[in-house]
Amino acid sequence: MATERTLSIIKPDATSRNLTGKINAKFEEAGLRIIAQKRIKLTKAQAGTFYEVHKERPFYDELCDFMASGPVVVQVLEGEGAIAKNREVMGATNPAEAAPGTIRAEFAESVGENSVHGSDAPETAAVEISYFFAGIELVG
Ligand code: ATP
Ligand code: MG
Repeated sequence: MATERTLSIIKPDATSRNLTGKINAKFEEAGLRIIAQKRIKLTKAQAGTFYEVHKERPFYDELCDFMASGPVVVQVLEGEGAIAKNREVMGATNPAEAAPGTIRAEFAESVGENSVHGSDAPETAAVEISYFFAGIELVG
């Protein structure tokens, strides 16, 4: 398994409940290294561009409003098989279906307000990382 990088977002429902540190501990305990991180507030337009693949889905508008509703922490995680490993640590999209011990099982409030985002493939990881970070900001 190769070393990979993936884009992670700690979503507004989690930043508002002061869960950044607890979520970061889950990543670090799983062997994922946080090699870049910043707290920002997205505009609805920025959230819309980020989630453009979902623009035909019925929840798109609600998702963009939610992602712009408060601060998010965008971060790059690095490690062996980081893309799949991060999604394992995150748990299923719907917290009711997330495995015990995962971030979404422990912290998520609903299928929409589910505390974290993680890239789903190497191609999307590369695009999503470059949406938020310049190469000089990634310190592995
Ligand atoms: P993410 O892309 O945020 O890591 P994911 O890959 O597990 O999550 P996707 O299917 O890509 O899930 O959906 C993107 C996001 O859209 C979800 O994380 C969630 O916030 C929201 N979402 C997905 N399905 C629903 C739904 N049925 N109702 C409301 N919001 C939803
Ligand atoms: Mg997704």
